[in-house]
Amino acid sequence: MSKSLIIANWKMNLLRSDSELLTKSILNMVNPGVLQFEIVLVPPFTNMEIVHRIIDHTDLSLGAQNVFWEDSGAYTGEISPTMLRDIGCSWVLLGHSERRQILGETDFEVRRKVSAALAAGLKPIVCVGETLLQRNKGMAPNVLRRQVESALQDVNNENVQNIVIAYEPVWAIGTGNNASVQEIEVAHDEIRDKLIGLFGKDADNIRIIYGGSVNPDNIQYVLSTKNVNGTLVGGASLDADAFIQLIEKAGAK
Ligand code: PEP
Repeated sequence: MSKSLIIANWKMNLLRSDSELLTKSILNMVNPGVLQFEIVLVPPFTNMEIVHRIIDHTDLSLGAQNVFWEDSGAYTGEISPTMLRDIGCSWVLLGHSERRQILGETDFEVRRKVSAALAAGLKPIVCVGETLLQRNKGMAPNVLRRQVESALQDVNNENVQNIVIAYEPVWAIGTGNNASVQEIEVAHDEIRDKLIGLFGKDADNIRIIYGGSVNPDNIQYVLSTKNVNGTLVGGASLDADAFIQLIEKAGAK
């Protein structure tokens, strides 16, 4: 299994100058060469180029928040996998719950995007997670299994090491209600089990990370939880001091 991941999802925040400042602060304060983590910055599309210029030739990598499944053509408003590669992007978030819930993204669309991303050499971070209603109705295991199976339906075993699954319970994102050790463990076991069903032994190469109100105060228990191979951080990644503290604490776990 590769290094654990710390992924910073800046969502629809920050102008170019803010992104530049934040990226430089992260680079100045962190010595990525000695880190045991792979750190990925995921800015809005308009800020990707400026972030890339700063982190090029460092150990930090660049991710995008979405991608379309076609490579070029009459798809107004969309960005293709090749375009992302062209600006130095190597990762892409897919199926984030904000896209599923606010923009109506479906399992089928996520599946097509996963295939297109892999074909272009991008590494997909596939987000899955249940809503509070689904959890309260006991549906969480089925939701996770369905989302994982659907997203990875067209993936073959040669590609599995390029896939990351982010378990992000919808009720934990941006709410301050991060999941407990037990809740994370149960969900990650469920996902791991599904991945083994799909890819056999090769599933060991797929990292499963947790996201949902992770901050410097809870990072250590999140990363100490069994079967957790990193984290996806939203709000706490927008503040340089908080994010650096989080990385430092992660290293000291
Ligand atoms: C996210 O954006 O995926 C996320 C987990 O956000 P937050 O850390 O703010 O809950």
